[in-house]
Amino acid sequence: MKPLPYPEAPVGILSFDFDGTLHDPEADPAVGAVFFEKIMKLRELGWIWGINTGRSQLQMKQGFMEVRFPFLPDFLVARERELYTPSEFGNWYPVEDWNRQVERDHKRFFRKVKKPLQRIREYVVSETQAEWVEQEGDPAGVVASTEAEMAKICERIDAEALHSPLLGYLRNTIYLRFSHKDYHKGSALAEVTKRTGITAAEVLVAGDGHNDLDMLQCCYANWIICPSNAHVDVQQAVKDQGGYIAKERASLGVLEALEHFFPE
Ligand SMILES: [Mg+2]
Repeated sequence: MKPLPYPEAPVGILSFDFDGTLHDPEADPAVGAVFFEKIMKLRELGWIWGINTGRSQLQMKQGFMEVRFPFLPDFLVARERELYTPSEFGNWYPVEDWNRQVERDHKRFFRKVKKPLQRIREYVVSETQAEWVEQEGDPAGVVASTEAEMAKICERIDAEALHSPLLGYLRNTIYLRFSHKDYHKGSALAEVTKRTGITAAEVLVAGDGHNDLDMLQCCYANWIICPSNAHVDVQQAVKDQGGYIAKERASLGVLEALEHFFPE
């Protein structure tokens, strides 16, 4: 699996979330072949495209294999913040200076928010059915029992964040991980945009979940889209910004929006 030859002068960026936005576990194939055909056409016009996901780089590599991508994207944002680019042979390389900065800032972040995190942990453990998770690379996270419970936990975190301005989190359905407020899919995409030498006026974003809200914003993209299966909060955000809510699900919905904005 390899990327397509990189355009001499990219004209724009397409940034897609993976799970739910392109990948539909209920569909067969999980990502429509017609979607890749459209990407191929846009790629010929000089657009570059990337996956902007909460998955780790390894989990995403599995995703590419599972779905049998006919060609790799031109960039990958993993764990909502780390950047990777593929070699012409399809090996993924970290964008080292950026990823080092991300790691350094997160180490500092977790030292700084120790106390507020402790208070949130106490709340989660004693007052909810949710589970507090600590794992390699992710020092603090929560798995709630329901989405409603997660919404309540987010309110509690938001209250705590009023006094800890760095305290951020990335939420996807019942999963949440704590993160430096400045690092999310939006800021990662802004870094890709800057490095590509273009502006947000030439960027399109597509997402379906809460962790996509950070990139589904006018400051990062000119075209904002979501498939029909996007969370209601996401649909509302897309609507509020004059974006496009597709009638179709997942990759077919994204394709519908691409055809809407770029018919040829
Ligand atoms: Mg998603």
